[in-house]
Amino acid sequence: MIPASAYAAQSATSPLAPFEFTRRDVQPHDVQIDVLFCGVCHSDLHQARNEWHNSRYPMVPGHEIIGRVVAVGAHVKKFKVGDLAGVGCMVDSCQTCPSCAEGLEQYCENQVSYTYNSTEQNSTTPTQGGYSSTMVVREEFVVKVSDALDLASAAPLLCAGITMYSPLRHWQVGPGQEVGIVGLGGLGHIGVKLAKAMGARVTVFTTSASKAADAQALGADAVILSTDPAAMKAASGTFHLLVDTVPRTHDLNAYTPLLRRDGALVLVGALEPLEPGVHGGILIGGRRTVAGSSIGGIAETQEMFDFCAQHGIGCDVEVIPMHTINEAYERLLKNDVKYRFVIDMATLGAA
Ligand code: NAP
Ligand code: ZN
Repeated sequence: MIPASAYAAQSATSPLAPFEFTRRDVQPHDVQIDVLFCGVCHSDLHQARNEWHNSRYPMVPGHEIIGRVVAVGAHVKKFKVGDLAGVGCMVDSCQTCPSCAEGLEQYCENQVSYTYNSTEQNSTTPTQGGYSSTMVVREEFVVKVSDALDLASAAPLLCAGITMYSPLRHWQVGPGQEVGIVGLGGLGHIGVKLAKAMGARVTVFTTSASKAADAQALGADAVILSTDPAAMKAASGTFHLLVDTVPRTHDLNAYTPLLRRDGALVLVGALEPLEPGVHGGILIGGRRTVAGSSIGGIAETQEMFDFCAQHGIGCDVEVIPMHTINEAYERLLKNDVKYRFVIDMATLGAA
C-alpha cells in the first residue's frame, strides 16, 4: 500500500483536518500521480457537509486534480513517469455498458466510481479525492495535460470546465446563438469563456450586482441582475440555451419564459427537488425544455482541455494553502471567490 497525506472531513459537522491513509499499490493499468493543484468545487462543500444525504466518512474531497505521474503500471500506454496528468470527477466506471461504450462514462448504467465519496467498482472500497498528496487511478480515467498550461488555472477545468463544456456542445452552441449563464461562480465564469469561444452571444444572470464589471471582463456581452424583475421581463423569449449553475433549489419559472421557442434550460447546479413546480404552460407554449447535465465523459474532457489550450482559456483562480480550506468553504458560501479556489498541494504539510 502507498501512504498518502490529506485533509478529510470526519463527519458532516467537523471541519476538514489532516488525515493519513493508504492508496492501493499501482496495478498494471494504473498511474500514480503526485498532486500539484486541486480545485475547490462547491460539490466538495455539499458532500463534506452531507447536503446530498449520501456522504461517507472519513471523506477526502477534491475532483479537480492536476499532478505529475510518478509511477505507471506494466500495461499503461498513455503515460510515462514525469508526465503531467489530470483527474476529474470519475476514477472508474463499468466500461462495458452502452453509455460507457459511447464515451459517456458519467452516465454509466452500472456504477460510476466517483473520485471521492464513492466506491471502486467492487462497490466496497471507498474512493478518496485530490486534497491529498498522491492518487492511484486507472489510466483510462486520466487525461493528458499540456506543459504549456498554467497548472493552477487549468485544474478547475477537470470539473467546472467540463461541466459547462459538455452541455454547450450537446446543445450545439455556436455563432448566432444567445446563451445565458445563470450564477457567476466557479462553473459560471468558465462557462462564459467557453460559450464566447464557441461564438455565442453570452449573457450572465447574477444575484451579485458587484460582479457585473467582472462578467464583462470575462467576456460576457450582457449582464442581468436576476433580482430585477423588469430586466428579467425585458429578456423574455431571447435565449437558445440557459445553463443554470445555482447550487440550491430556486424558482425556475423566473427563467423558462426567457427561452425562445425550442430553447432549453439546462440545470447543472441544483441536485435537489425543484420547488416551486415548473409551470407546464410555459414549456408547452414554446416547446421549451428543462434538462440536466452531468460533468462530461473522459474523451470529451480531453477534447475540452485541447479546446482550452487552443483558445488560451483558463480559470480565474485564487491559490490557497491547504490549511485554509475551512475558511475557503465559508467564503464560497458567501459568493466571495473570484472565481475558483485552488489548493497548492505543496502546502499540505504546512501548519
Ligand atoms: P459556486 O462557485 O458557489 O457558484 C455558484 C454561484 O451561484 C454563486 O457564485 C452565485 O452566483 C450563485 N448563487 C449561489 N447561491 C445562490 C442562490 N441561493 N440563489 C441564486 N444564485 C445563487 O459553485 P460552483 O462550484 O460553480 O458549483 C455550482 C453548482 O454546480 C453546485 O451545486 C455544484 O455542486 C454543482 N456542480 C454540478 C456538476 C454537474 O456535473 N452537474 C459539476 C460540478 C458542480 P451570483 O453571485 O452570480 O448570483
Ligand atoms: Zn465539481
